[in-house]
Amino acid sequence: MTDTHENTSYGRSLPPEDADDETEQAARKIGTEHGSAAASWVELDEQTAQAIDAGRLGVFEAFDGMSGPLSGEWADGYSVEQLAFDCGVNDAGNDNPEADWDDLASAYEDAYWQAFEAEVERKVETLRGPVPKIDTSGTYVGPGPGKVAWRVVGFTFGGLVRAVMVGDDREHTFDVDELTQIDDDAYCAECGQVGCTADGRDRS
Ligand SMILES: [Zn+2]
Repeated sequence: MTDTHENTSYGRSLPPEDADDETEQAARKIGTEHGSAAASWVELDEQTAQAIDAGRLGVFEAFDGMSGPLSGEWADGYSVEQLAFDCGVNDAGNDNPEADWDDLASAYEDAYWQAFEAEVERKVETLRGPVPKIDTSGTYVGPGPGKVAWRVVGFTFGGLVRAVMVGDDREHTFDVDELTQIDDDAYCAECGQVGCTADGRDRS
């Protein structure tokens, strides 16, 4: 691909929007590759991974302050000029190359951070390991008397089920074998007690 403003592939002249889409797609592809690569190099300790996994910490919060390769912070960093070149956009016959470069840089950076986030999330999953087999949309009771309803919110890195009581936000962990699934109308949506019908739900 060379100058996309004169894109005549397939024997027809493409409208400029399509030509731009094509170079932006190229920028996205490069951004995805670079973002994945960058994330594969970051150090992810278990504490951080657990916080991300539990939703207490966003990927971008965890790596707050990390600059992208187009920031110009690194002497050997990737440049907008290099990106434009790699996407086949050059100055020749282009009356406004900087505007194109901005579009390319945006497309690249969007894709870069998307891929970065996805790769970090993949690393978190790898660190967490396999999760117990349980229907996460179900409602459960735990062991012991005084039955209350629990909903699954996630898993620990040790393979335990993280659950919160219905009507409460306190979290407990259970071994998957400790949980028994119950019918949706078997518990009270307000207090979480099994057998209580004070929530007024239609159980007929
Ligand atoms: Zn109740």
